[in-house]
Amino acid sequence: MKLQLVKYICGVCKFEFKAPQIKAGAYAEFLLRGQSMESIAYLDAMEDKTYDEVDALIKSNPRLTGKSANVIAGILRKSYGAIACNPDSEGNAFQIGALPVCPSCGSQSIEYWEVIAPPEFIDRVVPPVTHSVWQSLNSYEKAQKVDQVLSDLGY
Ligand SMILES: [Zn+2]
Repeated sequence: MKLQLVKYICGVCKFEFKAPQIKAGAYAEFLLRGQSMESIAYLDAMEDKTYDEVDALIKSNPRLTGKSANVIAGILRKSYGAIACNPDSEGNAFQIGALPVCPSCGSQSIEYWEVIAPPEFIDRVVPPVTHSVWQSLNSYEKAQKVDQVLSDLGY
């Protein structure tokens, strides 16, 4: 798939590097990252039914009672990968919008980023997210999983 390059500066070692992102303006398409440089996965939230499923479970979770629709949409993006996607090859959760890993020091703390202008693109094979762990759960276990991840995130 065609991805757009973004320039990043590492917050720890100040190394400057480029990493791919979904093209600006893409609707309901997300890139997820784990905690290593190679762990990257793709989600088309219009096609993938688990996104709506997790959305509904999050909205009915008592931890989020009274939160605005905007806040809940942000929580959905932050928690969806850990809730419904199989972890990366190192066992770490994928997260929508997670920052890339610095190729120099391995930190995931970014001081500065900007979309490169004029735009630069690369063509890269990005595997779609997979859900076999999530799909093996019954509806009670799914609600429990959502509650656990929200709790881990501090809600
Ligand atoms: Zn660094």
